[in-house]
Order: sequence, then structure tokens, then C-alpha cells
Amino acid sequence: MKFATQLVHFDPSPGDPKRPMTTPIYQTATFEQVHADSFGEYDYSRSGNPTRRVLEEQMACLEGGSRGFAFSSGMAAILAVTGLLRSGDEILADWDLYGGTSRLFAKVLSRSGIVVRYVDAADPANVAEQITPATRLIFVESPTNPLLRVLDLAAIAEIADKRSILFCVDSSTMSPYLQNPLALGADIVLHSATKFLCGHSDVTGGIVVAKDEILAREIQFLQNAQGNALGPFDSFLLLRGLKTLKLRIDAQQKSAVKIANFLASHAKVGTMHYPGLPSHSGYALQTKQARGGGAVLSFTVGSAIATKHIAENTKLFKIAVSFGSVNSTISIPYAMSHVSVPAEDRSTRGIPQDLLRLSIGVEDADDLIADLEEQLDKLP
Ligand code: PLP
Repeated sequence: MKFATQLVHFDPSPGDPKRPMTTPIYQTATFEQVHADSFGEYDYSRSGNPTRRVLEEQMACLEGGSRGFAFSSGMAAILAVTGLLRSGDEILADWDLYGGTSRLFAKVLSRSGIVVRYVDAADPANVAEQITPATRLIFVESPTNPLLRVLDLAAIAEIADKRSILFCVDSSTMSPYLQNPLALGADIVLHSATKFLCGHSDVTGGIVVAKDEILAREIQFLQNAQGNALGPFDSFLLLRGLKTLKLRIDAQQKSAVKIANFLASHAKVGTMHYPGLPSHSGYALQTKQARGGGAVLSFTVGSAIATKHIAENTKLFKIAVSFGSVNSTISIPYAMSHVSVPAEDRSTRGIPQDLLRLSIGVEDADDLIADLEEQLDKLP
């Protein structure tokens, strides 16, 4: 089946003789058992819930993995993956990560004796060089957020595989429609489902898909033990949002290319970051490992004042953290999504104060361009 078909053609309610068209919401915490000394298929929703299970199986199918797991947020999904590590283990991460991930790594994992070191993974040789005997997990995003750097996932996977190190890709900026890290050799792919998977800014959720069954069993254990699985109603909403993933992203990506071309040629725009433009340094790699540049882009406008002006005066771009919604959003990563990264790291990590990030929604692209143009033209 092609991806568009997979998105809508799945069993929405396995074993249900009523054959509903959509997955029922099993809004129950516990399930009555027939026997007192053995469990049926479901016993307690923290361990498993039929609505969540359909979503998890659908995500495993879309990502080409062994099993999927739905969590109460992207951060909960990341926390579960880091639960695979023990005190003394090391994570080697690319330096351009979502601010919340950096915060978890710096301020929470350190409490359990897990060390995180950062590399510039845009050159896979740096990753190979920085591995130590304690390295147990390599963690990256691609394209990265907010600078949209493209990392060579197959090359990093090969390095990780040779040394039996787990390789996890946060693929939130892409979704399984545009990129499949497991097919490129990663062991785990995860998503902030709050973004493109949901698509409507109405669910906070996270997804982990494990490549093999052994890893899947460990993630399942952690999901149950940590107790941060996604609730039934949110699972239903995510399943609903997922059905239009291809339609939404086709429209959003098409507009993003148009808007990126407009911005790249505007006199007031400095550096443009969008891997869907042939002028982007990662374009060739992105074209090889993904199916387009996505719908998130960032650019500089020369000063923090100009950044604030554009963000606060464009009418169609809502000021909001997050991305991937049907509504276009605008944010200043330095002051918003990445504020939890220490200021000195934000500057050494190349997140300038005058960077604006756009997430392109499904509005008419010409309207969005006119909105940006009106405010860019007002800059001194
Ligand atoms: N990963 C990326 C790339 C993100 O941008 C975010 C949130 O913005 C997260 C993970 C965390 O996801 P959530 O906000 O759903 O916890």
C-alpha cells in the first residue's frame, strides 16, 4: 500500500463485530477480568488501552518499525528512551536540539548519573571521533530545530551500528510521510506528536517506534513503569489528525517552498535556513534521505528589534511555540522554544537573537507572503 492509503486503510477497531469506521474511545482506566488469577488482553490503561493500541500499531506501520508507543508528550517519549540508559552511560547528541530536550539532558539526566556530550553531527566523522566506551546512545534531530541543519542519518547509523550503540532520531520536523529514520538504519524514531502528526494544535503527545522487538519490549516496560502513556481521547484525536497527514504536509510543504523562495530574495532577510531550497547546504542530502524540506523554516532579519517587529505585527502568523499546525505560526527561538538553553550556549550554538522560525500552515501561500512582505518592507 502507498502511504496515502495506509493513512486511512487500517483496522480501526480490531475484533469489534460492530465494525465502526473510526476507533472508539475506550475511556476507561481498568478492564474487568474473567479470571482472578490471569489477565485478559487488557487489564489497566496505563499498561494498554485499545484506542491507544490502534494508534501505536498505526505509527509502527507508518515508520516501518516493530512496535510503536504513544506518550503523554514528546518529552515523555524522550524520557522513556533515555530510560534505556544506566548511571555512568553517556549520550552523544548533536548540539542543535529542541530546548526542552537540552534541559532534560542537562538538568534531569545528570541527577541519575547519565552524562550528555554534544558534537556537531553534521559531520559524521565528529560523531565517530567523540564516541567513548561509555557511549550508549546517539541522539539527533534532522532537520534540526531551529536551524534546519541536515544530518546524514545513514552515515551516523552505520557508525552507531559498528559499535553497538543505540541510535535515536527525533523526526518531529518531518513526520513519517517525509522521512523514515528506521529505514536509514536508526534503532528508534521518535516524534513530538504535538506537531505534524496531530496537526491541529489540540493534542500534546509523543510517539516512539522501535525497530526491533527486544527494544520494543524495553520501551513497553518503561511506558508502563513510568506511567506516562497517552490517554484514550488524545489517542483518538491523534488518529483522526493522522488521516490527513499527507494532504496537510503536501499543502504546507508546497507553500513553504514558495515562501522560502520569497524570503531568500528579500533584501531585509539575512541568512535563510530551509533544506527544501537548492541553495541550502543540506539540500542534496535532504533530497536523498527525505521527501522534501518540510514546512518549518527559519531566517534572520538583522536585529532582535526587527525580529520582534515581524513576530508581533504579521497578522496571519500566530506567535506560538511548537510547529506543524494547520495554522501558520511564528516564533523567536532565542526567546521562546530555546530559552531553556543557557544564554552562553544559545550564542555559541549559533541560535542568534535575530532568528525567526516559521511553521507554514494550510492558508493560501500568497496571503502569507503578502503578510510577511508588508512587515519586512517596514524594517529600516
Ligand atoms: N522534539 C522536538 C523537535 C520539539 O520541537 C519538541 C517540542 O517543541 C519536542 C521534542 C517536545 O515535544 P512536546 O512539546 O510534545 O513534549
